[in-house]
Amino acid sequence: MIKGTCPICKKKSQQGYRPFCTKRCSDIDMGRWLKGGYAIPGVDGEASIPANDNPDSDPELR
Ligand SMILES: [Zn+2]
Repeated sequence: MIKGTCPICKKKSQQGYRPFCTKRCSDIDMGRWLKGGYAIPGVDGEASIPANDNPDSDPELR
């Protein structure tokens, strides 16, 4: 059994809504999570891959 508190309002977690206390808090957390996913730009984009990792672009390897 996991005892804990709701991460949203710090009330005691309720069975069926864990780790939250109510569906309301669960929905709030889900909303934050979804927004957070869209609010972080450039984390998994191609722009973060170094261009000089490509051996074809390095003349000294030939
Ligand atoms: Zn709560």
